[in-house]
Amino acid sequence: MSFTIQNVLIPVEGGYKIVNVQVEGDRISAIAPEAPIIGDAIDGKNKLLLPGFVNAHTHSSEMWQRGIIPPLPLELWLAQLYDFAPLNPDKIYLSALGTAVETLLSGGTTVVDHLVLIPGQELETIAAADRAYREIGIRAFIGPLIQDESLTASIPSGENLIEHAPYIRSTAATLQLMKDAIARFHQPEIGINIILAPTGIQLCSEALFKGCIELSKTHNLCLHAHLLETKAQKKLAQEKYGFSSVKYLQNLGFLTSHTSLAHCVWLDDDDITILAETQATVVHNPLSNLRLGSGIAPIIKYRQAGVNVSFGCDGASSNDSQDLLEAIKIGSILHNITDFDYRHWITPRQSVEMASMGGAKGLNMGDEIGSLTVGKKADFVLYDLTSLSLLPRTDPIGLLILGRPTQAVDSVWVNGKQIVAKNQVKTINVDELRKQLFEQSQWIEERNSQTMNEIESHYRKVMKLET
Ligand SMILES: [Zn+2]
Repeated sequence: MSFTIQNVLIPVEGGYKIVNVQVEGDRISAIAPEAPIIGDAIDGKNKLLLPGFVNAHTHSSEMWQRGIIPPLPLELWLAQLYDFAPLNPDKIYLSALGTAVETLLSGGTTVVDHLVLIPGQELETIAAADRAYREIGIRAFIGPLIQDESLTASIPSGENLIEHAPYIRSTAATLQLMKDAIARFHQPEIGINIILAPTGIQLCSEALFKGCIELSKTHNLCLHAHLLETKAQKKLAQEKYGFSSVKYLQNLGFLTSHTSLAHCVWLDDDDITILAETQATVVHNPLSNLRLGSGIAPIIKYRQAGVNVSFGCDGASSNDSQDLLEAIKIGSILHNITDFDYRHWITPRQSVEMASMGGAKGLNMGDEIGSLTVGKKADFVLYDLTSLSLLPRTDPIGLLILGRPTQAVDSVWVNGKQIVAKNQVKTINVDELRKQLFEQSQWIEERNSQTMNEIESHYRKVMKLET
């Protein structure tokens, strides 16, 4: 299969250029004004072609609870999330599809799904997400969300040491589960990848981190985790290790050029130096950090230190959508209030670079995706510059990043295969998906989280809030 997008606008140094973009099989074979037409000719006139963005951190099954969790900080929000998490792999399949659709229609071609596993049906959960991503055709990195400590352990103890119930699955069983998942689902050649994704220092033992590092080495897989998302986690790290959790992860060997770390809100300058040295990637999830009151990640500092930064939506219960363009916009302009020197502010072109190449690098895919380059995979997005939200004509990338683009995505290709055409997903039946999401849910007015009732007073006490 080959095709050529004719007369399409692409960004070049200092401006834009109209070119033909030729694709043979799954790769870009030419980009030039006079490149000959091979295969199907696609009209690119008045359209902008950009490399696909990476939704570099999300949890697809949170879609079932978007809009319902009250304004709460992460630790209490999690109690609500887990008390009402979907327990049926069919639902996992639907929310993975929904996450993929929203990612694709907001400029994404790759999704990193830090997938919450149904207890006792772990492989079935992964199979459901795998099926969804294969059917729709988005490039997916599935990181089964693993831990070996129970939820209460993620809250600092304060003065009195607290006994926590043992986690439902042993560390050894969890690592075996990951081995099985790798053997069964890791198929990079078709765009489905398994990554090792311990949830974070707040809920994982050293043995689990070490086991993940070993598996990552054996199978050449990426590493992923949450890192210092909240103030409580910073406090917890002090209790657990007596020093920074970034230093702890570095000592273990968890921080590498193929490690991506979600949030990174509460890092200090020494921690930032470690990230720069180890070439780990920060995944910036600005909407989640606002929604949960986690804080503002020091993204300008990261960029100045040479740390690679990408964008994620985070799960749909802490966002509460999967609009990647929205996350990129907020995640870019948010930092203008953190640094008075406007010369440090993120430009729309830098945002595009972070969302595409930044995301690719964090997944060890910098040589394969992330830019419009001959020889790279054809993972790209065609934007309709005649969409009302991108008019009148000024700077296309400025409009896309700083504006509020609606229905601006005309077409999407992943691995050279067209997935979206005329703003419609072609590979799955979206009407049927809407029907299923509607029928398998209901409007909810109120619900009562048992776990939250149990932990809230301790949380307030240890975080020094009025009780
Ligand atoms: Zn997350």
